[in-house]
Amino acid sequence: MQLTFDLEKAKNYGDIFTLVKKAVKMSLGEHRVGLMLYLGNLPMNVGAFHPMGTNDIVLNKRLLKAAAKTEPRWKAYVFSILLHEYLHSLGYADERQVRGLTYRVCLENFGSSHPASEAAVTGPWVTLSPEDFEAVAEDMDLERVRDFERIDSGYII
Ligand SMILES: [Zn+2]
Repeated sequence: MQLTFDLEKAKNYGDIFTLVKKAVKMSLGEHRVGLMLYLGNLPMNVGAFHPMGTNDIVLNKRLLKAAAKTEPRWKAYVFSILLHEYLHSLGYADERQVRGLTYRVCLENFGSSHPASEAAVTGPWVTLSPEDFEAVAEDMDLERVRDFERIDSGYII
């Protein structure tokens, strides 16, 4: 499928996020820029968090460490989780709709047997309220991922 080989070559969060944007552009025709990625310790049932109205995505580094033991699995998790939060950042607020779209985009770009599509189905999709977020904010130990977004990634906005 379209992006399978690209994901195999991807090396870091920035590479994977470029593919997330490409996949969404191909499947839904939507695009945005200006996001920042942070790694933090969230509760174990939360993959990531996008505080609505901000440009931030916070990925759960504790969960990624525990769940993604091999590199292909790590990439599949990171892809599906970033995709999910990217869709929220595009304005999709309804959780069920975002899950459905996450799966659809993975399916269309990787096929149904790819680990990213599997992660899109089984992924840890718990909604974190702003109150929950504040409760865990203290021991999150946030670190910003540099070079996350490449504006000049070769296609026209
Ligand atoms: Zn969500």
